[in-house]
Amino acid sequence: MRVLEPLIGLVKGLWVTLKTMFEKPVTVQYPEKKKPVKTRFRGRHTLKRYENGLEKCIGCALCAAACPADAIFVESAENSDEKRFSPGERYASTYDINMLRCIYCGFCEDACPTEAIVLGDQYELSFTDRKQAFYPKELLLEPISGQGKLTPQVTDPGMFTRSVPEMKDPQD
Ligand code: SF4
Ligand code: SF4
Repeated sequence: MRVLEPLIGLVKGLWVTLKTMFEKPVTVQYPEKKKPVKTRFRGRHTLKRYENGLEKCIGCALCAAACPADAIFVESAENSDEKRFSPGERYASTYDINMLRCIYCGFCEDACPTEAIVLGDQYELSFTDRKQAFYPKELLLEPISGQGKLTPQVTDPGMFTRSVPEMKDPQD
């Protein structure tokens, strides 16, 4: 019986190989094909806009205060109707995220009063230089869509005095 043991093991192994040969491959041909991420996935941040192109970020720096990794740096400046970036008094003149520090906890997203910063589904983050890991506002801002215009905009006096205006969200 002991003589047959190696043979039984061999047959079992070959059976596993044979079964696997006819299974559907699980390999994803990345980067040509990408698997959809889960709904709660937290990837690279995006700074959102309203449908008219105004930036949702009002430069309040609550996200920076909430960040446990000290990854966000915000500087704000005054808006005017002749040069308006966002609704309300102030906008983020500087907004940087150090992706090497970020732990993708989502606290910044939770802290934001205008839903400006959102952790999206982008996961292709690779750097060959530490400087590339600094994402400035220009890289984080989402592109203009539909009827939206680039910022700064010239707006009607008194039209966007509230920091959180009643405006349609492009995603709605
Ligand atoms: S996801 Fe977390 S660690 Fe990353 S920037 Fe936001 S608060 Fe900071
Ligand atoms: S992203 Fe939100 S919390 Fe951060 S500065 Fe802009 S408005 Fe404030």
